[in-house]
Amino acid sequence: MNKIKISPSILSADFSQLGNEIKKLEQAGADLIHVDVMDGHFVPNLTIGPTVIKALRHYSTLPFDVHLMISPVHKYIKDYADAGANIITVHPEATENILNSINHIRVFNKKVGVSLNPDTKLDVIIDYLDQIDLVLIMSVFPGFGGQKFMPEVIEKINELSKIKKEKNYNFDIEVDG
Ligand code: ZN
Repeated sequence: MNKIKISPSILSADFSQLGNEIKKLEQAGADLIHVDVMDGHFVPNLTIGPTVIKALRHYSTLPFDVHLMISPVHKYIKDYADAGANIITVHPEATENILNSINHIRVFNKKVGVSLNPDTKLDVIIDYLDQIDLVLIMSVFPGFGGQKFMPEVIEKINELSKIKKEKNYNFDIEVDG
């Protein structure tokens, strides 16, 4: 079994102290920093964009695991790559062509993440799993902090982990929510 990594979301942090909060997460032993980017359109809430991520970059050497909940996402990938994201995660629900977006993230030498909403089936990414570094399974509907874990998604996680083993794929499985 692979090591379990912890990627705390800065969504729960004190936004007036983000830099220090990230430092604290690093000191507390986090493996990655999960940054939830929301646009008020793909999801109802609005959070932070590339300018803030760039400013935060100096506060930690941990990889920034940037979860883009924005639509259309494709044209903004470059901005997040430039801002210092290490993993860029996109939703197939938010792009016209998920394969194009996967390839676009690679152009910037970033790790490719794909996130699936609770009601999105694995089928939409099944043909591309060999090109993905991280599958982020939403166990809540994206857009709000503090929701309850949806136990139905455990089946999806099990199926994904089975495919990973069978085909010997390398992606990490991350659960959000
Ligand atoms: Zn997230």
